[in-house]
Amino acid sequence: MTDTFSYPVTRVAQSRISQVDFDNLRFGAAFADHMFVIDYKDGQWGQGEIMPYGPWTFDPSMAALHYGQAIFEGLKAYKTPQGNVQIFRPQANFERFNESAKRMSMPVVPEEIFMSGLSQLIKVDENWVPSQKGSSLYIRPFMVSTDEFLGVRIAETYRFAIICSPVGQYYSEPLKVKVERTFSRVAEGGSGNAKAAGNYAAAMYPTKLAQDAGFHQLLWTDAATHSFIEESGTMNVMFLIDDTVVTPAVGGTILKGVTRNSVLVLAKDRGMKVDERRVSVEEIVSAAKDGRLKEAFGAGTAATIAPISVIHCDGVDYHLPPIETRTFAPSILKELTEIRTGETADRFGWMVQV
Ligand SMILES: *Cc1c(COP(=O)(O)O)cnc(C)c1O
Repeated sequence: MTDTFSYPVTRVAQSRISQVDFDNLRFGAAFADHMFVIDYKDGQWGQGEIMPYGPWTFDPSMAALHYGQAIFEGLKAYKTPQGNVQIFRPQANFERFNESAKRMSMPVVPEEIFMSGLSQLIKVDENWVPSQKGSSLYIRPFMVSTDEFLGVRIAETYRFAIICSPVGQYYSEPLKVKVERTFSRVAEGGSGNAKAAGNYAAAMYPTKLAQDAGFHQLLWTDAATHSFIEESGTMNVMFLIDDTVVTPAVGGTILKGVTRNSVLVLAKDRGMKVDERRVSVEEIVSAAKDGRLKEAFGAGTAATIAPISVIHCDGVDYHLPPIETRTFAPSILKELTEIRTGETADRFGWMVQV
């Protein structure tokens, strides 16, 4: 990994690792001992450092809290059977982070800072990378505006940080999703292709309504017509119709998922037909009715591959074939997991050793 910079490290006096039950990890609830922090002001990045994970103090007028210039990434580190640590496709997350930064008028983070901070932090906290099956170290790089100023403007000061959390499985059961016909996550021309904090804030209320009605997640549709499928929660969505992998094409309103891309690469590698295009709700409903919709699943870093058992649309539950009978998503998940944990060859050059 590009390890151009070496940052000063202040280590914790006492690790908290013995307080964490690695066999029962709740997503995003426990944090590794250290974090990487670097501040931006006067048009440049200052001195980065690795320090004990802990609270920050900030001014109540801090810009991010009021106007939401805040972006993040999510990626994972895995432990190989030999005990080595490797990170899955960090370059893709780095590039997307800076695309988000540009969309939100935030400064880009130079590659050396992002990559050196990341690899050095993971090295310091390498004991926190779980070796349990299905577990990994979730890595959360993020940036917030830190101006102490209430005028609405592009902020002049920022903080970029990386924190880490050992995680297990995200969803414990197959998902029931509801096609959303009223609310929108984002609209054409908006910030849907940025991993911007505000996108998630606006999605909470409609998601809560769906959860109160017994669904795990929404299947978002396009804001203009609510007739084309976009994505689901923090996952891209994929369908197996007959023998073709069908997924909405990424563009302005759909997040360009790294997991999505990886699944498509693996599917094409198997010689499967992959169709990236607009996907109408009507098409999915009729494929479900005709029995041609063999599988549906979400794909994202946090959830990995999450099978969908029920698609609810306009008052009707469409039950998909039982999870046990499915072959495509489970075998892709197996291959992806084995690449990540080094149990199978990294044919696509996705893994970066720490
Ligand atoms: C992060 C995210 C995804 C999945 O992207 P990955 O790179 O696979 O983690 C999909 N949709 C949204 C809205 C997301 O925030």
